[in-house]
Amino acid sequence: MSSGFSSIASVIGELNLPGMEGRLFIKRDDLIHPIVSGNKWRKLKFVIDRAKLVGKSHLVTFGGAYSNHMVATACAGAVLGMKTSCFLRADEDINNHYLQCARLYGMELIPTSRESYRNKKALYELHFGGNEQTYFVGEGGESEEAKSGVSEIITELDNEPDFIVHASATATTAAGLARGIIQRGWKTTILAVTVLKNAEEQRQKLKEQGLENVVQVIDDFNFGGYAKTNAELMDFIKSFIAKTGIMIDPVYTGKALYALEKIKPGGNVLFLHTGGTLGIFSDRFLQTKL
Ligand SMILES: *Cc1c(COP(=O)(O)O)cnc(C)c1O
Repeated sequence: MSSGFSSIASVIGELNLPGMEGRLFIKRDDLIHPIVSGNKWRKLKFVIDRAKLVGKSHLVTFGGAYSNHMVATACAGAVLGMKTSCFLRADEDINNHYLQCARLYGMELIPTSRESYRNKKALYELHFGGNEQTYFVGEGGESEEAKSGVSEIITELDNEPDFIVHASATATTAAGLARGIIQRGWKTTILAVTVLKNAEEQRQKLKEQGLENVVQVIDDFNFGGYAKTNAELMDFIKSFIAKTGIMIDPVYTGKALYALEKIKPGGNVLFLHTGGTLGIFSDRFLQTKL
């Protein structure tokens, strides 16, 4: 790919989960990069191509203190020789490993009150209005280009799965996958496991794009909200990692794999590991006794 990382690293392996009928495969988008979430890279690829095409050298984006998108944008800037800035929905003095990574990649962080954070166009105008070099990248990388980037996952597959299961938050990944499925004329159903309490919003977005027949939004495994967990989920994650050697996190892939094991869809199933490994090193999970 033109944008620095190669998706060739995203290999497919076979997995054994107890009680699954049919075969279960895992596509390792987590291997695209050791720190950057695979799906955030997929979502940024064409956004960055577009920014470069229109002659921009400075990416400006938005995120919370635990944003995989922020870190991905910072890293992309470092790889591609572009400047990066991020409006941070957080207090001045907050610090964690996401922010440290973003800083190490050379990103400028601009702490912003929750209130002014709401109006992103206004913030952008205030700080970068009239700057010819900056390029606005939406929060979480949500865009048409993002869906095109994700749909490349489907073009990389040799066989048509009956189901693709993945962790879903904004339904951008789900929409990109669904487009790829339609383009190939496949009958695959996407099971988008919501990791926060916004299933209706996700369903609505998919419906507006005419994708509701391809994606089923699964809402029973959000564990009470974004980054919320319980002992059962943490036990599941621990035992999965110990059995497979594949790192998963409690915010995204842990919930989606837990859901997969409970739902047990039949036939050929492909689990998409979207990355997000930084999540396992967050303070709140480090305090969990494993
Ligand atoms: C952001 C993210 C998701 C959710 O992707 P959406 O396109 O917002 O649904 C899933 N997994 C990981 C690891 C992520 O970082």
